[in-house]
Amino acid sequence: MLHPDTLLLVQVSFTLLTTLLLTVAALLAGKQPEQRAWALGNVLTSLGLCLGAMDGAPDIVHAVLSYGLIGLGLGLVLQGLLRYGGQALATRWLIAISALAMLLPALFLYPWPSLSGRLIVTGGYFGLLNLACATVLVRGVRDNTRSVMWVSASGFALLGVVLLWRAGYLSWRVAAPHIAHDAELAAGMTLFAIPLAQVTIAFGLIMLVARRDAEALRRLSLTDQLTGICNRAGLERRGARLLRRALQAGRPVALLMLDADHFKRINDSHGHPTGDAVLRQLADELADTLRPSDLLARYGGEEFVVLLDDSGLAGATLVAERLRLQVAASPARHQALRIAYTVSIGVASSEQHGHDLALLSSKADQALYRAKQQGRDRVVEAL
Ligand code: GH3
Ligand code: MG
Ligand code: MG
Repeated sequence: MLHPDTLLLVQVSFTLLTTLLLTVAALLAGKQPEQRAWALGNVLTSLGLCLGAMDGAPDIVHAVLSYGLIGLGLGLVLQGLLRYGGQALATRWLIAISALAMLLPALFLYPWPSLSGRLIVTGGYFGLLNLACATVLVRGVRDNTRSVMWVSASGFALLGVVLLWRAGYLSWRVAAPHIAHDAELAAGMTLFAIPLAQVTIAFGLIMLVARRDAEALRRLSLTDQLTGICNRAGLERRGARLLRRALQAGRPVALLMLDADHFKRINDSHGHPTGDAVLRQLADELADTLRPSDLLARYGGEEFVVLLDDSGLAGATLVAERLRLQVAASPARHQALRIAYTVSIGVASSEQHGHDLALLSSKADQALYRAKQQGRDRVVEAL
């Protein structure tokens, strides 16, 4: 036979354990507001559970304040989850959630004193709050951490269902005292399910943040910091994918190697920050002109690569010519300056050189070199 105190002790121990886990994760993570909210939420929930478990405390502390702390803790967890999905929970809602968590048990302490009444309403309320947490995760997380999101969401759902079930079971026992109830089964189920759910939630939340951080780092490593477009590593990763898909589908791909003419002069005459601004505007201009299926990357310095999907040599040369004319006709602006400049472009196509990124780059680079030799501000096709 499981003693209710054993049940409470197991629950408190697991809550403390998961609290410790989330707090350490939050401390290690630096300034992640959602992780801090989850950790603080768990600390308050643990405090509330410990207060509730204390014998001899005045009723108001034991039965009202402890639930208020658990409510505030759950509210903070909910706030962290909403924030993770890019939304917010106003402070007045946090106050309302914890006020209701105190009001409900208070009703069963003073106007209608009843221990089962208190357990039923608080169990039902906290069950609903946990289901709200699960819903916020399922509806709010749309990025590529969604696959990991299901771990915490199922933990919250399990906790919500178990708490509601326990509240329902207690109500049934109150409503039908003449029926023999299997109290041990009820205690055993919650004893097993609640710690399992708590551990699942804590691990899931830590995995969510770890996955998002890893994804952000990966994206950063493939992005050029000055222009925000793909860098060389990004070109190699995404370009290889674009070429593989095009080869499988039998589509031609063309590669443009574009280099700003006499860029050193821009830096020398106007300074490096102005040169940077010109490079940013050039990247924006190129990005605006291309189709979403094309790939634009900064190859290095003032050199850019464009991969044109489903494009033969003739079509790519037309696109390159259009880009060249557009750059020549739209000087970059920086502070009060208008900086006119031109670009030279080498064009290579998979029709002649195959779907190979390294070979296409080298052929387009040779064509670019010839464009420079022929006087710049021109488009030259690879041999
Ligand atoms: P060409 O027409 O032959 O290409 O002449 P160029 O002056 O453009 O070529 P060169 O390779 O001699 O010089 C490239 C210049 O680009 C030199 C370098 O300072 C500048 N550059 C490279 N990266 C950056 C950058 O990130 N910001 C700025 N402002 N300048 C850069
Ligand atoms: Mg140059
Ligand atoms: Mg160059």
